[in-house]
Amino acid sequence: MNAPPAQPHAPSYYAASAQDSPDRPALRESVTTGVCVIGAGFTGLSAALHLAEKGVPVTVLEANRVGWGASGRNGGQLVNGYSRDLDTIRERYGKDAETALASMAQEGAAIIRDRVAKYAIPCDLVDGGFHAAFTAKQMRGLETFKRTWEANGLGGLEMVDAARLPQVVKTDRYVGGMIDHVGGHMHPLNYCLGSATVVERLGGVIHESSPVLSIDESGPKPVVRTALGSVTAETVLVCGNAYLHGVVPKVEREFMPTSSQVLTTEPLDPALLDDLLPANHCVEDCNYVLDYYRRTADNRLLYGAGIVYGARELADITASVRPKMLKTFPELKEAKIDFAWSGDFALTLTRVPHIGRLSPTVWFSHGDSGHGVTTTQLLGRLLAEGLSGQMDRFDAWAALPCLPFPGGRALSVPLSALGAWYYGLRDKLGI
Ligand SMILES: Cc1cc2nc3c(=O)[nH]c(=O)nc-3n(C[C@H](O)[C@H](O)[C@H](O)COP(=O)(O)OP(=O)(O)OC[C@H]3O[C@@H](n4cnc5c(N)ncnc54)[C@H](O)[C@@H]3O)c2cc1C
Repeated sequence: MNAPPAQPHAPSYYAASAQDSPDRPALRESVTTGVCVIGAGFTGLSAALHLAEKGVPVTVLEANRVGWGASGRNGGQLVNGYSRDLDTIRERYGKDAETALASMAQEGAAIIRDRVAKYAIPCDLVDGGFHAAFTAKQMRGLETFKRTWEANGLGGLEMVDAARLPQVVKTDRYVGGMIDHVGGHMHPLNYCLGSATVVERLGGVIHESSPVLSIDESGPKPVVRTALGSVTAETVLVCGNAYLHGVVPKVEREFMPTSSQVLTTEPLDPALLDDLLPANHCVEDCNYVLDYYRRTADNRLLYGAGIVYGARELADITASVRPKMLKTFPELKEAKIDFAWSGDFALTLTRVPHIGRLSPTVWFSHGDSGHGVTTTQLLGRLLAEGLSGQMDRFDAWAALPCLPFPGGRALSVPLSALGAWYYGLRDKLGI
């Protein structure tokens, strides 16, 4: 019997510039391991690598290819912190939660930097990110953000006023912003592929083309089944995020798959990019539905914008994103668009990721809500810490309530779209 064919990578700039990577064989037998990880994205690979470093036998099952999901298609921006700021976390969950999460807010980026350095992962890693403000109100929001971070002992943030703005980004759309010197950007698919190679070098096993069909918990140990094989493990980590498609309904109730769209221009004159983005920081703006962009290593502009609740595919991604790019950089009106793609992330109602246990032997992490490049690295580490009995940091996250979307999937899409329209209108009106 043949394994189901893996879906190829999205037609992205990342797939076109990916480092060589072997086709990993599908699982075709029944095997036993310590930990079975479902999904070879940032979360699954981060957990697998931490476990492999500790000498734990680990088998990763990926439905398609390593980095096929959001992790191989995103903006590549290392945004520190979470999709909701520390003030919101304190107001909702209390001071202890704020202190615990603040102590981890820059850890994901540190994991990436450590791994890139330690294992020589080639992924075009560049330091520096910029949060761009359209209005005085958004500037005040960034100032508050910075004060809260500093009160929690976190550094690396620097306000930029209108006069200094052209040193970071040349567009007349913003009134200022804030540099995060601990932020940065990278080629996320190459980071995934490099992480997978390290997992294997440390003794882990990765199967591609191996969609998990079920997790059978009827026996003494959980058995993870694919079309052609099975893995019996001490513990299963569910890291399929927005692409689980019904395999673990209990966790899928907690988030709404949401897509975002990205394009890249043709390679541009480096002098033009030096002019538009002199500091080579990645940029995300402060709007509710935000634009995010950066320079690539081969001198393209990579521009992401827009979201589609429910993760419906757009018929023409370029037609949706290019006008937003030209609003920011009218200089690019002659630039050819070489790649346009979309990817799905998992949005929680609270916009806070959710990590926890479905049972003593089936654990999960998901819901980075569009800010997952760094958070997934952290949560992968916390899964691995938890499995080795170190529960304090895992529990700090697991204790945060994850609320279901009102009305389930059917109503959550129109309600979220309505909410985004309302907040988008406020952004447009500057209120
Ligand atoms: C277009 C886009 C742009 C983004 N930009 C940024 C950004 O610039 N900065 C930022 O911080 N965040 C960004 N994000 C969010 C970030 O990419 C995600 O939060 C993060 O990649 C999620 O990683 P993950 O490993 O949890 O999920 P994924 O990367 O989606 O990985 C899940 C994997 O599990 C596999 N899988 C699912 N079900 C099964 C199954 N049954 N059996 C086997 N395998 C399975 C899938 O094939 C997939 O490979 C963006 C997201 C998107 C979509």
